[in-house]
Amino acid sequence: GSTIGILGGGQLGRMLSVAAARLGYKTHIFEPGAAPAADVAAACTHAAYEDTEALEAFARSVDVVTFEFENVPAEALDRIEAIKPLRPNHKALSVSQDRLTEKDFLSGLGLQTAPYANVESLEDLTEALKTIGCPAILKTRRLGYDGKGQVSITAPEQAEEAFDAMKGAPAVLEGFVDFSMEISVIAARGLSGEVSCFDPGQNLHEGGILRRTTVPAPIPARLRTDAVLMAGRILNELDYLGVLGVELFVTSAGLVVNEIAPRVHNSGHWTQNGCAVDQFEQHIRAVTGWPLGDGSRHADVVMENLIGDDMERVPALAADHTVALHLYGKTETRPGRKMGHANRIGPRSA
Ligand code: ATP
Ligand code: MG
Ligand code: MG
Repeated sequence: GSTIGILGGGQLGRMLSVAAARLGYKTHIFEPGAAPAADVAAACTHAAYEDTEALEAFARSVDVVTFEFENVPAEALDRIEAIKPLRPNHKALSVSQDRLTEKDFLSGLGLQTAPYANVESLEDLTEALKTIGCPAILKTRRLGYDGKGQVSITAPEQAEEAFDAMKGAPAVLEGFVDFSMEISVIAARGLSGEVSCFDPGQNLHEGGILRRTTVPAPIPARLRTDAVLMAGRILNELDYLGVLGVELFVTSAGLVVNEIAPRVHNSGHWTQNGCAVDQFEQHIRAVTGWPLGDGSRHADVVMENLIGDDMERVPALAADHTVALHLYGKTETRPGRKMGHANRIGPRSA
C-alpha cells in the first residue's frame, strides 16, 4: 500500500484523491486553508507551508508528493524534495509560478505567445505600451487566477491607474490577442517518457472564469495536431511527470499559448465522463509510475462549471439523464466560487 501526498486540498485535490482511491492508493492532503479534499483523503495536515516541522512530517508519511496548486513557496518544495520525490518536479512548477519566466520559457521553445514585457515601474509600463500598443492587459506575474490581478488597458492614459492596481507587485504587459476561439489541451507524461494527450476542448470564459468546455473543439485536424505537438514539446523540455494543462488562443496566424498549468485543469473535467481514463487517474498513474491509460474520447461532452448560485440548478441537473454531476462538498456558497460541474454527454460525433 502506498500513500500519495497532495499539496493543496481544493476540488482538484479532492478529485485526485478519488482517482487515487480507485487505484488502491491512499492520499494525504497538505492544506493551509479550507480543504474540500479532507472529506475523501485518508489524512489531512492543516498547516502553513512555512511550518517546517509539519511539512517534513507530511513528506515522511507519504511515498511521493504531487500538487493541485501551483503557488507553493519554493522553500517548501526544496524541503519536500529532500525527503521524497516531487512529481511534477520543482522546475516545472517554478516556471509557471511567474508569468514572465513562463513566457520566456515558452517563447524559448519557439512557441508563439502574446507580445509581452516585464513591468516593475510606471516607466516600464509607459515604454512597454509604446512597443506593444493598445489594447493590452497588465497581469501580476505571480498568484493570479480566474482573471484576478489583471487589468485591461485601452489607452496609454490609463497606464498610471493600471500600474496602481498591481499594488507594487511585478507584472507583465501582454498585447491583446485577437483570437477566434480559446482551446486547451490536457496532456500527460509518464515515467518512461510516454506522452498522452486528451482531445483539445473549446473554452468559454465569463468574467475571467471558465464557464464551459466543449469537446471536440470545432477546429481543423491540423490545429489539433499543432496543439498536441506543442504540449509534447513542453512536457519533454520540463522532464515532466503528471498532467499539464495548456491554454491556447486560436488566431489567423495559428496557435498562441496563453498559459500553462502544471496540474490537472478545470478544462479537463470533461474527461471524467468522456474517456476510459480521465485526467485525474492519468495524473495518479504518472506520479506513481504506472503506464498511462487510454485517454481516447468516446463521447461528446459539454462541461459546465457550477459557480456560486448555479447550485440552485442542481435538482434539475440531477434529474437530467444526459448529465453527470460532480459536486465538491463545499458548504459555503460565494459568488464566483466553483462549487461543482456538470458534464453533459452525447454520442461521439467526430
Ligand atoms: P486561470 O489561471 O484561472 O485560467 P488567469 O487568471 O491565469 O486564469 P488568464 O488565463 O491569463 O488568467 O486570462 C483569463 C482570460 O482572459 C483568458 O482565458 C482570455 O479569455 C483572456 N485573456 C488573457 N490574456 C489575454 C490576451 N493577451 N489577449 C486576449 N485575451 C486574453
Ligand atoms: Mg492562470
Ligand atoms: Mg487561464
